Amino acid sequence: MVVAASSPSLIRESGQREVFCGLTSIVWLHRRMPDAFFLVVGSRTCAHLVQSAAGVMIFAEPRFGTAILGERDLAGLADANEELDRLVAQLLERRPEIRTLFLVGSCPSEVIKLDLAKAAERLNRQHLGRVTVLNYSGSGIETTFTQGEDGALQALIPLMPATDQPQLLIAGTLADGVEERLTGLFHRLGIERVVSLPPRRSSELPAVGPGTRLLLAQPFLSGTARALVDRGAQLIQAPYPLGVEGSRAWMAAAAAAFGIDPAVVAELLDPLVERGRRALEPHRALLAGRRLFLLPDSQLEIPLARFLSRECGMELVEVGTPYLDRQLMAEELALLPPGTQLSEGQHLENQLERLRAARPDLVLCGLGLANPLEAEGIATKWSIELVFSPIHGIDQAGDLAELFARSLRRRAALSFA
Ligand code: SF4
Repeated sequence: MVVAASSPSLIRESGQREVFCGLTSIVWLHRRMPDAFFLVVGSRTCAHLVQSAAGVMIFAEPRFGTAILGERDLAGLADANEELDRLVAQLLERRPEIRTLFLVGSCPSEVIKLDLAKAAERLNRQHLGRVTVLNYSGSGIETTFTQGEDGALQALIPLMPATDQPQLLIAGTLADGVEERLTGLFHRLGIERVVSLPPRRSSELPAVGPGTRLLLAQPFLSGTARALVDRGAQLIQAPYPLGVEGSRAWMAAAAAAFGIDPAVVAELLDPLVERGRRALEPHRALLAGRRLFLLPDSQLEIPLARFLSRECGMELVEVGTPYLDRQLMAEELALLPPGTQLSEGQHLENQLERLRAARPDLVLCGLGLANPLEAEGIATKWSIELVFSPIHGIDQAGDLAELFARSLRRRAALSFA
């Protein structure tokens, strides 16, 4: 379907998908909120997935676990609920620091129709005052991996207190250091109150209300954005803070929402922009003119494609995304080169056929596809790495470009060998 002469053209597909489920987002959420615990109610497969995804990172103390649904549970819901209550009681006794407990639904809990919302209510009554129990779904039937964060944040929103105070609310997990840096810049621009969701402590949720201006740090938070707008927040339309251009526009949009003079914004950000562009140069020299194919995975694909084409000179063969939220992506879509080929959803075979025919220089894809494609001689970049890495903001643009340049360098080194 072609939208307009110069607009991106869109292929909508459904069929076999090759993406992680929403359980994966536990890997970064548990680091962000050390006083929360994520209890996956699922099978051994689910436990393996979370552990191996977490194995990508080094961490001292896991703050997640799996309540394994065994055969007995599958035979009777009463048993599964009793088992869950027993396990939660044990966990809370052993881990007094837990303040928020997320029950995370999975494919097995969904298939046996275990009602985790009811279980959370019951457990809240049992452990009143000790812990807050919430639930959301990370099931592969319903979610792709970044949607797990959207679900977890939506579960927190009803607990956020109300406020009329003017404030900037940044939604979406950022690396702690990046968050500090961006918050510091907003303060210097003159925005006094800046709060984040998720917060660093799950029990210290920010307030929300009519004075709240909502700025999304991540593009995959459609449900969270809707729920915050329902609580009175006003959404700031902006590109996402990836690359020099996107990050500057993101900060400028927030400043405009608070009536800050663009000259003040320019005075603070122009030196950073200058430095950011210089940091991009060596990577641009390698990436420019290279052909990039983005498979649908994290929902970061469209902002990344915009950055890699406009600031690094890459040619976009196809930009896939698991879901396209046109409202949250409006500013990004407007910045893509005219005629960019977008695809939404996935029919794996068809997409791989297009990919092989195009022979791109670099493919952004999930872990499951990276090895087979590398074996075919196609350089790949794991999309999950971009969710774990500190890539947001003007200062990080060089590092973001480097992540892509590194894949090409590695492939060149292998070919030489
Ligand atoms: Fe697999 Fe579903 Fe468990 Fe995810 S939730 S690991 S897709 S069984």
